[in-house]
Amino acid sequence: MASILQCMACARQYPIDVILYTCPHCGGLLDVQHDLDALRGGVDRALFDARLGTLDAPYSSGVWRYKELVGPDVDPALIVSRNEGNTNLYPAPRLAAWAGVTSLYLKHEGENPTGSFKDRGMTTGVTQARALGMSRVACASTGNTSASLAAYAALAGMEGVVFFENKQIALGKLAQAIAYGGTCVQISADFDRNLELVREISEKLGIYVLNSVNPFRLEGQKSIMFETIQQLGWRVPDWIVCPGGNLGNSSAFGKGLHELHALGLIDRLPRLAIVQAEGANPLYRAYRANFAEYEPVHAETIATAIKIGNPVNYPKAVRALRWTDGVVEQVTDQEIMDAKALIDAHGIGCEPASACSLAGARKLAAAGVIRPGETVVGILTGHILKDPDATIRYHSNTLDAIDAQHANALHQAEPSIEALTRILSPAPEPVEV
Ligand SMILES: *Cc1c(COP(=O)(O)O)cnc(C)c1O
Ligand SMILES: [Zn+2]
Repeated sequence: MASILQCMACARQYPIDVILYTCPHCGGLLDVQHDLDALRGGVDRALFDARLGTLDAPYSSGVWRYKELVGPDVDPALIVSRNEGNTNLYPAPRLAAWAGVTSLYLKHEGENPTGSFKDRGMTTGVTQARALGMSRVACASTGNTSASLAAYAALAGMEGVVFFENKQIALGKLAQAIAYGGTCVQISADFDRNLELVREISEKLGIYVLNSVNPFRLEGQKSIMFETIQQLGWRVPDWIVCPGGNLGNSSAFGKGLHELHALGLIDRLPRLAIVQAEGANPLYRAYRANFAEYEPVHAETIATAIKIGNPVNYPKAVRALRWTDGVVEQVTDQEIMDAKALIDAHGIGCEPASACSLAGARKLAAAGVIRPGETVVGILTGHILKDPDATIRYHSNTLDAIDAQHANALHQAEPSIEALTRILSPAPEPVEV
């Protein structure tokens, strides 16, 4: 049942226990390819349902519950896990009404151990690093990958090296990477340049790269799809809507869905909608040109997690869109922050990039792409506490070029009952939920 590395461009195959990120022959992206024929018949819904609620590692993890589909050959003794995954899928009828869709669920990946979906890819990535005998792992990051890498490296007793941009980094993420003991380096370059640097220095110094160009990351992130569909009682939603930055997550979704279908665990695929920020939209532009051309852009957006101008997984994302009859949408920073304010005010909350899912769903419904009667799952990628600065500035309406439509102004009061009564009167009518 051996898994192999396979180039998606030239189909050449390589053994799984060598350090490779791209094809040495043609430079194409690599997939971790499992032997689906060997798996067929050996995995079914009942197997994964039987593991729900177990306390036994590794199956208690929302990633390793699907071990046969994620890393069938992985030695359980090597697994570095914090029981990631197992995140909630919230029905959100009021937000559905706002977005103009019939049925909306929000899958909250911000509920992972370090507060983003990156943990699902880091458990598989750091486990592979351990299998390869590496003592150092590294990434360039807009923040969440660093936080996650630093935590999992610490757990595994490895050095975690992270390269940050030296400006516009969400404080929650930087604080985590430092606190988890990572070797943190701020560099005066954007994400795209830092990714080049980390690949070069890692090659030189023998460090294992855990950006999403690493195909083992994507194997873990596939489990977001497995878990979502299992939580829906194996009913397939019509749409999966997610933000797109470096496009690792959307690529993983495509691969995971394709494999579920190939193994007969689902009988149709949901359509994938990838939503980019208008200021960081190379995939959107290529999509509009029918993928005839692809041009990196200089990225600018308040949603720092997706502030990426040259997504490394572009070819895999295009493949995911073809497999799922997918679409690409773009949203403005204004739309992102207003949608975030509504998700937050719902009591769920997320970081700015995550709100692309709701803002994008609304746009796609308005355009008639998402049709009445369809079920939509929006992926919330990161936790509300990751970027408190953006949140506070939104609610005090001090963000550049954004006119906060759903600001919840902070009251100031003298310490008197009169002043408090003025603020708290009259009492609101209860809202029907
Ligand atoms: C990493 C990240 C994204 C972007 O995911 P990609 O795989 O790079 O497309 C979106 N939102 C959050 C919160 C992230 O941390
Ligand atoms: Zn190749």
